[in-house]
Formats: sequence, C-alpha cells, structure tokens
Amino acid sequence: MELILASRNQKKIREMETILATHFPGVRILSLDDVGFEGDIEENGTTYEENALIKARTAVEAGKHQYPAIADDRIAAIADDSGLSVDALDGAPGVYSARYAGGHGDDAANNALLLRNLSHLPVSERTARFVCCIALVYPDGREMTVRGETEGLIIDEARGNGGFGYDPYFYYQPFGKTFSELTAEEKNAISHRGKAIAKLADILKK
Ligand code: IMP
Repeated sequence: MELILASRNQKKIREMETILATHFPGVRILSLDDVGFEGDIEENGTTYEENALIKARTAVEAGKHQYPAIADDRIAAIADDSGLSVDALDGAPGVYSARYAGGHGDDAANNALLLRNLSHLPVSERTARFVCCIALVYPDGREMTVRGETEGLIIDEARGNGGFGYDPYFYYQPFGKTFSELTAEEKNAISHRGKAIAKLADILKK
C-alpha cells in the first residue's frame, strides 16, 4: 500500500511508515516532494483537525496533476497535525505548539516559555495531553479524521535524551518517565501519534 503524507519532514515520514508497517507490512509513505509538490502549505486552521485536513487536501490536489496513481484514484493522502495542550493554560500551546515562542520549531524557546507560564503551579496541577489528529483524504473527495491523545504532567527539569519538542518535560506517569526517556518503540506504543495511526489503520483495513 502507498499513501502520500503531506510533509517534507523525513523523520516524521519514517516514523509514520514504521508505525503503519506494524499494521500494514510493506506500506510505503510518499512525501510531497515525491508527488512533485513544491509549494508551502499554510496551516491557518484553528483546530488540529482543520490543519490536518488543509494539508491532506493540498496533497491530493497537487498529486492529481502530477502523480498518476492519485489521478486514477488508487492512493490517498494523509496529513497529521499535533501539539501539546495544557489544562492550566486553557489548552495552549495547542495548534501553535511548534511556534509557541515565536520562531517555528525552536524547541528550547518553546519549552522555556512553557515552564515560565507554569512556574506558579505545582507539578500536580500541570496536567497536559499530547494530541495528534490525522486526516485521510481520497481523490474522490471522501474525507475523515482520527485523533489520538496521551495524558501527562509538565515537570520542571528536562529528563532524557530521546524524542523532540516538549518530550523532555512531558512526564508519563504509568511508566514513571518522560517521553524523552522512552525508546522509540515504547513511545510509539502509547503516544498520541501511535494511537491516531492505529485508528487510521483500522479505517484503511475497511
Ligand atoms: P506538527 O504536527 O509537526 O506541526 O508539530 C507540532 C508541534 O507539537 C511540534 O513542533 C512539537 O513542538 C509538538 N509535538 C507534537 N508531537 C510531539 C511529540 O511527540 N513530542 C514532543 N513534542 C511534540
């Protein structure tokens, strides 16, 4: 099976491929570059679902002109949008997680701002969840979204070397570790993204 993932992030593409392969051995994920899309996609939605749909629709439309398998309705596009929602911050940083402190993808600045905004609260009141929404869009116009969530607490000291983004501060109580202290396999098994991909796989099987 082949799917177009509306991303150029090779790390994300390989991660999706790895998790999906546990459901569909041999699955192949194509990037925007693979289907000849050269532009940037503006993520101007206000929800994870909206942003994921914007990206997946763009990939389908681009692919229709440039990638025969899409034009023939043989493959679909997927896109994910994810982030961290902190209860005490009314769901922030939410859809702005990647650019919370201003610059896109500045993990150190984003984490520093997050800790500053939570500094008045004890860890027990810093409940949060990672959210991942995946949109699936077919060339004939059918669309659906799935969502995965994983609950945790935001701690003050970074722990662990793995992962990315907010992982070093996201404490997952059932394992007594931050997401950065988990192996990729452990994280994939319980993460928001792993859960959303499992739901996507169920849909694709049908
Ligand atoms: P996007 O879905 O690629 O736009 O990512 C949104 C942002 O959410 C990332 O830049 C990270 O800051 C954050 N994020 C999403 N998933 C994770 C995760 O699994 N660990 C840590 N941070 C994450």
